[in-house]
Amino acid sequence: MVTRKSKREIEKMRRAGRVVAEVLALVEGELAPGVTTAHLDELAERHIRAAGGTPSFKGYLGGGRYGRGPGAFPASTCISLDDEVVHGIPGDRTIRDGQLVSVDVGAIVDGWHGDAARTFVVGDMPEAVRELVAATRLAMMAGIAAAVAGNRVGDISAAVEDIGRQAGYGIVRQFVGHGIGTEMHQDPQIPNYRTGYRGLELQAGMCLAIEPMFTLGGPEVEVMPDHWTVVTADGSLAAHFEHTIAVTESGPEILTTV
Ligand code: MG
Repeated sequence: MVTRKSKREIEKMRRAGRVVAEVLALVEGELAPGVTTAHLDELAERHIRAAGGTPSFKGYLGGGRYGRGPGAFPASTCISLDDEVVHGIPGDRTIRDGQLVSVDVGAIVDGWHGDAARTFVVGDMPEAVRELVAATRLAMMAGIAAAVAGNRVGDISAAVEDIGRQAGYGIVRQFVGHGIGTEMHQDPQIPNYRTGYRGLELQAGMCLAIEPMFTLGGPEVEVMPDHWTVVTADGSLAAHFEHTIAVTESGPEILTTV
C-alpha cells in the first residue's frame, strides 16, 4: 500500500533525513587512504545515536524485519568498494588511493526513516570513472526532478534510464528505489528503467527513495557468499546515488539534506 504523509509526518522525515545527510558529510570528511570501512561505520553509528536515532540497516533481515545472528545485516552503513554495487559490509578492509567507495546510510528518528547514498572517488581515478559517478548522480537528480504530483512512477524511471542509456552504462535492474516512511522499504517500487507500465500516479505526501545504480559494464549483478554484498557480474566498476524525497504541492523536496 502506498501511504501519503501529512505535513507533520514529512517534518519528522526531514529530521531523519538531516541525520543521514550529516553522516554522509562526516564520512566524506574522514575518507582517505588507510582508513578502514569499519572505522567509517563506527563514526556513522555514533553520530546517528548521538542525534537520538537508530541505524536503519543494523540487524536488518530484509522485508521490513529485524533480528540478530546469521542473515541480519551486521553494520550501520553499507560500504561498497569498486565493483561492489550495494550492501557491502564494513570491516577491516582499508581504503586505497584510486578506489570507488559507495556509502549507503539509513537512520530512524522518532519512528521515521531517512535513506541516502553516495559514491565517493578516493584519489586519482580515470576520467571515464569520474564520468560514471557524475552521471549516476545526475540520473538521480533527473529522477527527483520527475517526482512531481501528476507524473507517474514510470516518469522517474524513464528520466533515470535516459541518462544511463545515453552514456552506454549498465543499468542495474535487480535493485530499485522504493517508498519510505515508518518502514525503510514501502510501496511503490521505483525501477531505474522503463518497465512498459506508466505505474502509479504520484501525489503530494508520497515519500520516495530514488537510487540509480550504474556500471561501466553490463547490468547483471551477483550476491556474494556473505549473503549481502552485491557485485557486478562482469567485475566492472559501479556507482550508486540515493536521496529520500517528498512529493509536495510545490514540487519534489530532498529530505536527506542538511
Ligand atoms: Mg534505499
